[in-house]
Amino acid sequence: MPRTARKSSEYVPPGSMIGILGGGQLGRMMAMAAAQLGYRCHVFTDKDNSPAADVSAQTTVAPFDDMEALDRFARSVAVATYEFEHIPLASVERVAARVPVRPGINALAVAQDRLSEKTFLRDTGIDIAPFEPVDDADALKRAVDRLGLPCVAKRRLWGYDGKGQTMIRRASDIKKAAAMLEGTAGVVEGFVDFEREVSVIIARTGAGDISAYPLCHNIHAEHVLRETHVPSGLPEPQMAQAKVMATRIANALDYVGLLTVEMFSLSSGGLVVNELAPRVHNSGHWTIEGAVTSQFEQHIRAICGLPLGCVRVRGPVRMRNLLGTEIDRVPTFLSDPGAHVHDYGKGKPVPGRKMGHVTWVDAQVPEVTA
Ligand code: AMP
Repeated sequence: MPRTARKSSEYVPPGSMIGILGGGQLGRMMAMAAAQLGYRCHVFTDKDNSPAADVSAQTTVAPFDDMEALDRFARSVAVATYEFEHIPLASVERVAARVPVRPGINALAVAQDRLSEKTFLRDTGIDIAPFEPVDDADALKRAVDRLGLPCVAKRRLWGYDGKGQTMIRRASDIKKAAAMLEGTAGVVEGFVDFEREVSVIIARTGAGDISAYPLCHNIHAEHVLRETHVPSGLPEPQMAQAKVMATRIANALDYVGLLTVEMFSLSSGGLVVNELAPRVHNSGHWTIEGAVTSQFEQHIRAICGLPLGCVRVRGPVRMRNLLGTEIDRVPTFLSDPGAHVHDYGKGKPVPGRKMGHVTWVDAQVPEVTA
């Protein structure tokens, strides 16, 4: 049973059930961190055999539009959160009618739709790539004319890991981009000639306390995160600026929980925000062993009204994703005394799928590894 409550209305006492919408590896690591702090988790997922269900007290497997299942789920939990952003807003609203959902629906609504995300960021005074909303092929052509080549066309909804986007390098690519956007609304963005991709992982409590991890340097291959390195290699003023920007975003959203802000760093020293993830993030997995408090624990602390933990880094860190059959190399990694191995329990490898990751602390951080 939950222990009796202390202080604020934000407080969710240990022993309570935390609801997690989504059943992937992020939910799995979140549930493991919640258990450490004395909470139990109820996972709502639309898939059987989900990684989060394996480590949670309770699971509901139902479509996200099953309102009765969502009601039963909401009645069983003291607070709810989400581990991925592709959940219909109406489903989250249904849960929020019965129980606090943290981060709130506003953050989810902003991050789900690239146009509202970009509009919000621009209105908050954050530097972003120039963009144009596009609804049809003519608007696409006009946007490309205005922004110039190269540029990037992206679907407004349901894009991730480079899916639902295409680069327009020359006029002949416009046709391919129009086909990709066919029937869906999109945005076209000016190309950012970035020096490196970085992310800020920041937590904010309901009382407005904020804490950010040191900046992460993220290396992608074919749009999928391969490695994260900390320290990021960026100069101190740029790192400080990145934290200022992330703090402004978290405050503007009145955010509660862990927020990830993906940015491009420019050789001029500037920073341009690419996108927001209103959740724990792949680029923060290194915090499990590499920081005093993991991003997963920090998220649980924030949504349960507990004090935020220390974000000190234990040493230079390198995190590598295990994609597809790379998971078969786990025995090799296990014989490396410095490797912290995570297998998400997804079973048969699927090409390109995130199956696990490995973290090295006090690592020799290579300049770039794809
Ligand atoms: P996204 O799905 O928006 O995170 O984009 C996936 C990847 O595409 C990013 O990590 C970048 O490597 C690249 N990308 C996206 N937008 C731009 C842009 N405006 N300019 C240059 N590269 C981009």
